Amino acid sequence: MPPNITGGALTGISVMAQELVDKLLADTEGMDENQLMAFALETFGDEIALASSFGAEDQVLTDMLCKISKEAKIFTLDTGRLHQATYSVMEKTRMKYGIQLHVMFPQTQDVQEMVNEHGLNLFYESIENRKRCCGVRKIEPLRRFISENNLQAWFVGLRKEQSPTREDMKWIQWDEGNQIIKICPLLDWSTDQVWDYIKNNGVPYNALHDQGFPSIGCEPCTRAIQEGQDIRAGRWWWENPDQKECGLHK
Ligand code: SF4
Repeated sequence: MPPNITGGALTGISVMAQELVDKLLADTEGMDENQLMAFALETFGDEIALASSFGAEDQVLTDMLCKISKEAKIFTLDTGRLHQATYSVMEKTRMKYGIQLHVMFPQTQDVQEMVNEHGLNLFYESIENRKRCCGVRKIEPLRRFISENNLQAWFVGLRKEQSPTREDMKWIQWDEGNQIIKICPLLDWSTDQVWDYIKNNGVPYNALHDQGFPSIGCEPCTRAIQEGQDIRAGRWWWENPDQKECGLHK
């Protein structure tokens, strides 16, 4: 059991957390992604979970995780603004693997106040409004899930290729924003590796990927891209690329 690194005063915690990250990085050196995930499950027990938005990378991780343990926690954030295709793959995934998916919803009161104040499509008006919407619909439910489940670590499907802001990332890191260890088993995977895995293992995937969506988020904030465009060009396309993180992954 690792030391409890969430909760309590933040000062001093990061030093201890960084030491733990360094130790985990040393312990997992030379492992492949499956060994890393098995090691993390063994280390953190029920205090680790996979955060899935049912995109291609998350589906690969779900398949890998279910082959190690069907008891592993998988959670998702239902923002209330998702594509119908996302709900469809969510259901296919639940049925195929016979697993419980933990679905987190935003707080009704927060959504109501935000929408009554700024309208349903506030995100198009300013970055501030877009961040408020992501805060209400994604970040608060994420933090609530972390807190309610006493999570010490989470698996995420980030890859370096997806964003210029991720070039220096390591596959285990301290997530200062969420005060938790973040584990990225697919960090160095290419897009081709992801799709080869999906095809070779019969993994269900979001139908929007076949319609030009490499990255799928909320319906009003995601669109298809043209061949050759940056992989995240379809997310918050009206904003500057440097400002495109939603706050879940800084
Ligand atoms: S991606 Fe768009 S709709 Fe979804 S939470 Fe963020 S701003 Fe709101």
